[in-house]
Amino acid sequence: KAGAGGFDHLFKILLVGDSGVGKSSILMRFTTEDCFDDMSPTIGVDFKLKMFDVEGKKLKLTIWDTAGQERFRTLTSSYYRGAQGIIFAYDVCRKETFRSLQDLWMSEVEMYSTIPDAIKMVVGNKVDLSENRQVSKEEGKAFARQHGCLFIETSAKENIKVAQCFEELVTKMLETP
Ligand code: GDP
Repeated sequence: KAGAGGFDHLFKILLVGDSGVGKSSILMRFTTEDCFDDMSPTIGVDFKLKMFDVEGKKLKLTIWDTAGQERFRTLTSSYYRGAQGIIFAYDVCRKETFRSLQDLWMSEVEMYSTIPDAIKMVVGNKVDLSENRQVSKEEGKAFARQHGCLFIETSAKENIKVAQCFEELVTKMLETP
């Protein structure tokens, strides 16, 4: 059992996906209580720490965000190295960001990931903008299943299922030896 300040598991989790889908917002929502609108853009690949209790275990998560570097295609192998959990995020209102998971991000992860049985999760963000939706929940789910990924839809803005997203991911990671 972990003592004060200790932890049972240390996990590295990555966020990948096109610029603007809400990766930084999801991370901010999960790791701080800060006001959504106060979010300032960050430069350079960065990660945040989060202590998270799941199933009686204390988890220390390092969650890596591309912080805009994906626009310059400069993500390096160190970004991917050792990641046990990978979140593939898209914007449910921009179909092209969903297509990019197939056309770009899946192969990037395949190329650079050093953990063959990393747990993957497809996340459709911005469900609060349902009137502009271009990707149905069924499409998202089918794609995730086809690629052996978990699936969830979130809203970083309205705080819908953001914590649940990480909880489902780390629960699966805990089950994986
Ligand atoms: P990133 O480039 O993937 O890190 O995306 P950001 O987190 O910077 O978000 C891009 C834009 O989408 C920002 O203007 C956010 O405020 C907005 N955004 C992020 N998540 C949501 C969401 O769930 N709903 C809505 N309506 N806007 C969001």
